[in-house]
Amino acid sequence: MKISDIEVIEFRTWKTGHGTRWGYGVEGKRRPSRNAITKISTDDGAAGYALGGNRAVMEQLIKPLLLGEDPLDREKLWNWLDQLTSRGPKLAERDMGLVDCALWDLAGRVTGLPINKLLGGARDKVKAYASTAPNLGPPEVYVEHALACKQRGYKAYKIHAYICWNPHTAQPAPQLPGFPREDLEVCRAVREAVGDDMVLMLDPYGVYTLEEALWVGRELEKLNFYWLEHPMIETRMEPYRRLARELSIAICSPEHAPGGLFSRAEWLLQGAADMLRTDIYYGGITGCWKLINVCQAFGLQCELHMSGWAHAQLLGAAPASTCEYYERGLLSPGKDDPQAVPYLRGIPDPLDDEGNVVISQRPGLGLDIDWDYITEHRIR
Ligand SMILES: [Mg+2]
Repeated sequence: MKISDIEVIEFRTWKTGHGTRWGYGVEGKRRPSRNAITKISTDDGAAGYALGGNRAVMEQLIKPLLLGEDPLDREKLWNWLDQLTSRGPKLAERDMGLVDCALWDLAGRVTGLPINKLLGGARDKVKAYASTAPNLGPPEVYVEHALACKQRGYKAYKIHAYICWNPHTAQPAPQLPGFPREDLEVCRAVREAVGDDMVLMLDPYGVYTLEEALWVGRELEKLNFYWLEHPMIETRMEPYRRLARELSIAICSPEHAPGGLFSRAEWLLQGAADMLRTDIYYGGITGCWKLINVCQAFGLQCELHMSGWAHAQLLGAAPASTCEYYERGLLSPGKDDPQAVPYLRGIPDPLDDEGNVVISQRPGLGLDIDWDYITEHRIR
């Protein structure tokens, strides 16, 4: 079996959130958008898919490298792609991750197995936390939303409070300075409302200075929060080393540090976080799986960032002692359950009544692509 083609299928669709000039959006009306699916085909008629894709990158960087190769040689190809991400012409880690996901999907479709079984199945469901959209409004909005999530069955709730947003003017604002005092008002109100038996986390999305992160972390310890995620910009490791040393609450990072598995191994070695964090846009399923195994060897948790098909499969293959939670969201009042996107049937993360996401056992990533929708909306 040889890779015979790599296509980026582009189509019109819609989305609801919208960004501001500071880069983190607020809820908005439905508006037109473009999306893509990357398809890797083989000479014997097999195919694998991943959501997203950049046509120019595939044509210029990926196709010359992968055409004619055996798509089941994922480890060899991952190492080739890793070399491309480290030098010019530079391949973005995001695009590398996407190609890796499509290769895993192909392997799953060829064998008829879900990726969690290819990796080595560990569980058929995983605890989820309700992950809020940011900038929902004043603390009482978060309180009402947290109670609705608890009612829905969630056992854990992660707050994104005020990010690139001034809660006093209700207007976009730069990432720094953040609003630690106002963020804590949300955290206090939610803890008081949901009681002690709900797991709570805060993700300030890198808006604090070290001193602010220290202060917020100490206050969250009093409120019995489980983790403080990505509190500062992640291109500087030293403040994280100091923060993790000073606080007893777990620091969960880095979400956005470039370098995938390799930079995260450095974070681990430096004691810059208590729980590591990654996602498929930093090295694909292969890169995530390697980091999960490194973390397991060191007895540390690796909490995956974001919802999604690939993450559900990775979590189905990882023990709860290493990867505890699935991030379900981003959610907002009246939207406590994610809806299917128009070009796919189903969602990656159906929730049972106990707050667990049930892992898809369909082959590969588990995608059920609505080709009628894509054909109708295709951009030629
Ligand atoms: Mg985060």
